[in-house]
Amino acid sequence: MERSNNLPEGGFPHLFHHGAVRGVTGSAHEWVASPDCSVLIDCGLFQGGDVGPAGASADDLAIDFDISRIQAVVLTHVHIDHVGRLPWLLGAGYVGPICCSGPSAKLLPIVLEDAFRLGVSRKPADVERFMARLEAALVPVPFGYWHALEMADGTVAEIRLGRAGHILGSAHVSCRLAGEHITVFSGDLGAADAPILPEPEPPPAANVLVIESTYGDSLHEGRKTRQQRLEDALVKALRDKGTLLIPAFSIGRTQELLYELEAIIHRQRGAAMHSFLDWDELPIILDSPLASRFTQVYRELEPYWDEEARERLRADRRPLAFEQLLTVDSHEAHMKMVRHLAGTARPAVVIAASGMCAGGRIVNYLKAMLGDARHNVLFVGYQAAGTPGREIQRSEQGGSVRLEAETYPIRAAVESISGYSAHGDQQDLLRFAAGIARGPEEIRVVHGDEGAKRALVDKLDTHFRAAGQPVNVWIPLQ
Ligand SMILES: [Zn+2]
Repeated sequence: MERSNNLPEGGFPHLFHHGAVRGVTGSAHEWVASPDCSVLIDCGLFQGGDVGPAGASADDLAIDFDISRIQAVVLTHVHIDHVGRLPWLLGAGYVGPICCSGPSAKLLPIVLEDAFRLGVSRKPADVERFMARLEAALVPVPFGYWHALEMADGTVAEIRLGRAGHILGSAHVSCRLAGEHITVFSGDLGAADAPILPEPEPPPAANVLVIESTYGDSLHEGRKTRQQRLEDALVKALRDKGTLLIPAFSIGRTQELLYELEAIIHRQRGAAMHSFLDWDELPIILDSPLASRFTQVYRELEPYWDEEARERLRADRRPLAFEQLLTVDSHEAHMKMVRHLAGTARPAVVIAASGMCAGGRIVNYLKAMLGDARHNVLFVGYQAAGTPGREIQRSEQGGSVRLEAETYPIRAAVESISGYSAHGDQQDLLRFAAGIARGPEEIRVVHGDEGAKRALVDKLDTHFRAAGQPVNVWIPLQ
């Protein structure tokens, strides 16, 4: 059903939240600049049980809001819950520009080609037509400059991208109306100490801030602690003389993990891991064609890396292309690798998608290796309820899991490291909001579970009260 989005009485800009208000997926916010012109910030896929204000869900992704006003789309970053509904938006007749940062413009076609094949059509002619339309619509916008958008009725609207530190190319978006009123959309914000990426940089001014709250109620462990725990998990797993399986998402976390693994290997270079194996000989296997393509583009986008990462390059290290990193492409090579590692139990680290074990190549590894106590599984990401990942994570040794309609016993050891998240925690979110030099007067908290949203509202409210700056902080539902 389509929502008419009648505009209420009152001035502009007006905001509609078409997703990420009940849950964390389906991000889509409409900044309405005049009765006939608006800008859409993100157009994300709904996942799991999340439902949009007008009824869209993972099972029904058709655009359920009026798109006749939309003059431009601006993307914060290329995660699927922020861009995955673009094929449906184009399908519904949207023909305007799609603005995003330069790195996002390079990463987006890879994400959407995959999403289009999975969700819309695998026919080569359809894929080709969609990709051509997408490429023609993309407008890369540099960070830190005001960029004018063309509005059919002559309304003066501009956007400015700022660094969000979440994944490569991620941005927060400021929308300025008539050179005066500014609304900032945070997109997803990263942690201050995330590997590879520069820190999030708050915008200079905002009247209204729309902020995410994924970890609005929690604090992450520091990066040093996480690195140590990753190294400990690696040593423990490899002491068992088997393979360490790490289910991971393709974009962002996989590259962070590779970067941290390179650092561990670099530090341990020359040291013995076992009587029969040196650290230098430990293969790190990236078995995911999509993750390999992303890693390749991440490497090409070196100018966008942070100072620490570029320092490593200058020291002749290759954080995302080190010698022990092997990539597996074809399906045959993948199956051969599964058989080889399952049969020989040669120590190795395998990173494969999907992150929650609900599909992808990790499933073949799990089927072949979960029953063998020499192997280990390490979870580095959130495992949603109802996924095989959650079942494996929760099972005691001796339990079992359903994978592709069959039951597999779990004898491998299972370990989890929390805090390997591309999202900032409560402290990072507060730092961002408090770091805006002028404003805001109003903050809308979105993109979080109920408890996380409420906790962040309290935190922001307390902070701005104490600072003597009254701010209206609230949780929109649509
Ligand atoms: Zn994201």
